[in-house]
Amino acid sequence: MKVPFLDLKVTYLELADEIDSAIKSVLKGGWYILGENVRCFEEEFAAYCGCRYCVGVGSGMDALELLLKAHEIGQGDEVVVPANTYIASALAVSNVGAIPVLVEPDPRTCNIDPFRIEAVITSRTRAVMAVHLYGQTADMKRFKEICRKCGLKLFEDAAQAHGAMHFGVKAGSLSDGAGFSFYPGKNLGAFGDGGAVLTDERDVAEYVRMARNYGSGKKYYNAIKGMNSRLDELQAAILRVKLRHLDEWNRRRSEVAQIYLDRLEARDEELVLPHIGEGNTHVWHLFTVRSNRRDKLRAHLEKRGIETLIHYPVPLYSQAAYQEMSRSRKNYPISDSISERILSLPMGPHLSKEAAEYVCAVVNSFFEH
Ligand SMILES: *Cc1c(COP(=O)(O)O)cnc(C)c1O
Repeated sequence: MKVPFLDLKVTYLELADEIDSAIKSVLKGGWYILGENVRCFEEEFAAYCGCRYCVGVGSGMDALELLLKAHEIGQGDEVVVPANTYIASALAVSNVGAIPVLVEPDPRTCNIDPFRIEAVITSRTRAVMAVHLYGQTADMKRFKEICRKCGLKLFEDAAQAHGAMHFGVKAGSLSDGAGFSFYPGKNLGAFGDGGAVLTDERDVAEYVRMARNYGSGKKYYNAIKGMNSRLDELQAAILRVKLRHLDEWNRRRSEVAQIYLDRLEARDEELVLPHIGEGNTHVWHLFTVRSNRRDKLRAHLEKRGIETLIHYPVPLYSQAAYQEMSRSRKNYPISDSISERILSLPMGPHLSKEAAEYVCAVVNSFFEH
């Protein structure tokens, strides 16, 4: 049996009629940038997240950068970022001229550990960028308390957490502002790049609205030095269709996860199953296991037709791009161990029950001899 990690073509085919007609109506409408679909999607996604404002931008990383800029975070500032995350979370901080200060994760959830924040705070620390990794939120209740106590802004990188909740509150409305990505493989994915900033603050929304469009609120009048980072009408029209199916697709992801959780046999260091943090509704962007025999397990699965991925094989502090951090590599033993052991099993709304059961049988068989 062949089990691809994620088949994006079938996600299109399920909604082909709705998506084709949405695309056609944009093409026939003759208005392709910043029109009705972007405006409606922004309203609909803000309502979905329980936030006042949503501003569509060109990508998830741009969303994070614009969010930081809107809060006047830049040169000389420090922003706390998880050591265990996709590099974009840190790049957004570097790209506005600030310094990402890395903090180790809670080894159970792999999400940034709130109890390690206070130790890295300096007079230059301005904010914490919590990342909801793999589809469950960071421990936002504790982050809120700590950030309030220490006078820091709290942001969310919610690129992997569309629809995830923390004590019943949606990702995107758990902080002072959030960035989402609509990269095709995300839980809510476009057919190209896209992203959004979510905020309850009118000033922040207005800043991002101008900054994404050359700094212009009114055509040919530029109030600030902006950039070009706009969600386009085609992607917005597609996202409006897919948003209506997001909860159903997240529910299907959790059915796959439940099969994995029921059938995989946890074995100390050899097979560690995901842990769901207190108060969290997980949306299973990824289903990650950890194993001290990861590479052999991965080869065993591959030989039997099962595609897996590693999120992420090289931690950001070990990347050539962050040479200035490499000296401190030994400071991140938990993140190092995660990158050496983590393995993402096939996951998506279209993975059949049979395929998920087959994956479990093959994983269990690896450990049985
Ligand atoms: C995908 C992702 C991003 C970047 O989103 P893009 O739209 O690809 O720029 C940022 N942070 C995390 C955690 C991501 O998974």
